[in-house]
Amino acid sequence: MTVFEKIAAREIPADIVFEDDLCFAFRDIDPKAPVHILVVPRRVIPRVAEADDAGLLGHLLLTAARIAKSEAAAGFRLVVNNGPDGGETVPHLHVHLLGGRPLGWPPG
Ligand code: AMP
Repeated sequence: MTVFEKIAAREIPADIVFEDDLCFAFRDIDPKAPVHILVVPRRVIPRVAEADDAGLLGHLLLTAARIAKSEAAAGFRLVVNNGPDGGETVPHLHVHLLGGRPLGWPPG
């Protein structure tokens, strides 16, 4: 069971800001910006390279953008890390929503 499944099951605590039947969203425990929220599908897909459900992927992006309207209205970034060189540390697909400060480009 991934740490995100444990959060969904309320086995470990998290600051959950949104949930529906397809996904849930909570504040990152180690935030990289004043707003750092993870949007996670309930269905366990390890990473985007193994995803095949276009509807679910679209739902994750639209959910993140809706949360951003209230959390990071001045601008935000959505990030999906994939694989070890891509910065992935939890093998359960998630979209990072980052905002609340100007974000540099390119990212590290
Ligand atoms: P990634 O490195 O893209 O796989 O992102 C995983 C993210 O999950 C990291 O930003 C971690 O800080 C975050 N994270 C890991 N454990 C927890 C937790 N228990 N609650 C909230 N965020 C977590």
